[in-house]
Order: sequence, then C-alpha cells, then structure tokens
Amino acid sequence: MIIVCPACSAKNRVPEDKLSASPACGQCHNNLIPLAPIELNEQNFSSFITHSDLPILIDLWAEWCGPCKMMAPHFAQAAKLYPNVVFAKINTEENPRLSSAFNVRSIPTLVLMNKTSEIARISGALRSSELQKWLDQQLTAQK
Ligand SMILES: [Zn+2]
Repeated sequence: MIIVCPACSAKNRVPEDKLSASPACGQCHNNLIPLAPIELNEQNFSSFITHSDLPILIDLWAEWCGPCKMMAPHFAQAAKLYPNVVFAKINTEENPRLSSAFNVRSIPTLVLMNKTSEIARISGALRSSELQKWLDQQLTAQK
C-alpha cells in the first residue's frame, strides 16, 4: 500500500505486513507512521489524503478550546496503539478553508477518512478509552 511521508510528502510503497515494523521513508528516512499525531494543513491536506492508503483520523481543534486541550494527550496516547491508522491534527483557526470544508460546527471534532471519503465523525472531547472504543467500531464496520 502507499503511505505518504508526513515529513517530506514522498509516496512510499509499503507491504501491508510491514506496517507494524515502523517503516522509514525511502527519501528522508523519517518514520512513515509516526506514533504521534501529524499536522495537516491547507497546503499538504489534499495530497496526503488522496495518496495515503491508510485511514486517517483527524482531530479538528483550536488553541482557545479547553476540551480540545484536554483531549490532546488522549489522542496522542491512542495514536501509539494504531499503526494502521494515521492520526492527524488540523488547527481550525489556521486552516479556515479546511474547517469550513469539513463543516465543523463544534470542536473538538474527530473525522475518520478513507482517501477522500468521510467514514465517520464524532464531536466532543473523548478519553483515550472512549476514543479507542469508537475507532474500533468504525474500523470493524469498514471490514
Ligand atoms: Zn520522507
């Protein structure tokens, strides 16, 4: 499958059974699936989601949002547990066009994408355990 490098945007072909072995980018040697959320923005968003074969879980957040800050460590914690899902964050204030494209009504909002399709979304701050439960349900429903 194709994985887009979050550091340099190079497209890497990775065998599915190597996903959990922390594959590195052929171009910049950074970790292709960092076990920490990556930053998406209006510059890299569409190329990233179009080319990545992994589902992407996006946290739409803002600096002024208390619940977003509460959820951030839980989101980062969950990112370590899912080598088959890219965890990404979008700052809604710095990326107003993405924010309106997602039609965000409240934050934090989590959106699960597969390529350019939205699979599911949920709003409100979640703890790591709640996030995992929700994500497991969505991923199971996809199979
Ligand atoms: Zn790279």
